[in-house]
Amino acid sequence: MTGRRSDDLAKEDVADLAALVIDNVSGEVIAYVGNASAGRERPGAQVDIAAAPRSTGSILKPFLYAAALEEGIILPRTLLPDIPVNLGGFAPQNFDRQFYGAVPAAEALARSLNVPAVFLLRQYGVAKFHALLQEAGLTTLTADAGHYGLSLILGGGEGRLNEITAAYSALVRHYLATTTGSGAKTAPGAPGKAKKDVPGAKTGSPAPGSWNPVALWYTFEALKEVNRPDELDWRLIRSVRKAAWKTGTSYGFRDAWAVGVTPDWAVGVWTGNAAGQGVPGLTGARTAGPVLFDILNLLPADENWFPDPGGSFVADAPQDDKRQGVWAQVCPLSGMLAGPDCPESETVLIPAAGLESEACPYHRDGDFVLPPAMEWFYKPHHPEYIGARKSNSERAVEFIYPASGTTLSLPRQLDGTVEGVVFRAAHHRPDATLWWHLDQTYVGETRFLHQLRLAPDPGLHTLTVVDQQGNTASIGFEVK
Ligand SMILES: [Zn+2]
Repeated sequence: MTGRRSDDLAKEDVADLAALVIDNVSGEVIAYVGNASAGRERPGAQVDIAAAPRSTGSILKPFLYAAALEEGIILPRTLLPDIPVNLGGFAPQNFDRQFYGAVPAAEALARSLNVPAVFLLRQYGVAKFHALLQEAGLTTLTADAGHYGLSLILGGGEGRLNEITAAYSALVRHYLATTTGSGAKTAPGAPGKAKKDVPGAKTGSPAPGSWNPVALWYTFEALKEVNRPDELDWRLIRSVRKAAWKTGTSYGFRDAWAVGVTPDWAVGVWTGNAAGQGVPGLTGARTAGPVLFDILNLLPADENWFPDPGGSFVADAPQDDKRQGVWAQVCPLSGMLAGPDCPESETVLIPAAGLESEACPYHRDGDFVLPPAMEWFYKPHHPEYIGARKSNSERAVEFIYPASGTTLSLPRQLDGTVEGVVFRAAHHRPDATLWWHLDQTYVGETRFLHQLRLAPDPGLHTLTVVDQQGNTASIGFEVK
């Protein structure tokens, strides 16, 4: 079967395909294809790609979501920023090169948005995430955390398909052990389970501490959403079996990943070229995804989907147990703990640590108001958004482009003249007037649409805008 898919992919210059299946209850690898097209005569054909370190793309994002939930850094649907940002020279982009302003964390994971993931990793901490991945059994992240930085969540590090699939499988095992009691008896490392004939594959995986089952449940739920308009219309694929799955595409379209879990199985697929060349259109969803579902459809059906974590499963756990789940009042718009100004709230099961998370900062005087830059990108996707009805002096104005700290190179026309760059700002009030100052020198005025074309000289600059009320925003940037 992988042979047939491999033939299809070869027509599109995708030479190599690796896949493996893990039985989640035992942690055993039950099928392993190091390279589906190993017989073909060409470079890389004999490489066991399932055990080869490859750029991870987005395939590690679920671990960050689960960990941030578990620690109460976010709740399941906390709004994460999706705006242009420059973090020490690192300016992440989404796959579709768009910004959405603010996106609920679960949706950001399901749609695999890069910018919210980078914001989340910054909040969670690169060093802590790096340690978590190592603990989860990824042996390839041997450099220190600073080497990868925030790109760790976007494929800045390498991983092996067999280890990553085993880490996904371990999440399921943890979940089932806490929610049903099954799985615990056959946890990884159980004697007699080692399968030495499988190259490079460990049996099960090292158990990464104890996961909060509520955090894992939301992770599986988010990954169940087949909502990836940026990559492929999944409604075109027939008989898609229910799975919690994630795709990954590395920089330059060199690696396409898909890893999926059901209560019984974890399936990992990698496609690409072992020799390394990129293939336009090679994405996890388009090339690895169909193989993942082919394999899932061959496996015996699960009896049930993941059991709902309910609330009783940790009833006997001590109050400070991090596995505890609690019910909390959550603001439906921000996804954060409901504050006194939130007009509505809903009761949501969250990991216990979530009680310490931040309350909704966006509801004030009955209005739901995002900071200006978030608002600017959010509004076009949310026609129901009203914003501030009264003048709101706090953070009334923000820059949209460029992000502070950016280095710009100004485009030149054919005759050598510098074209300049359009700077953009946003104000809460639609009729606000802004006065613009470049390095303390007045350069222009805007109303309604706050954009101004400037061609500053090479060097460091500060751009400031001021409104009628004296609210200001500033950015520093460099022109090369
Ligand atoms: Zn609120």
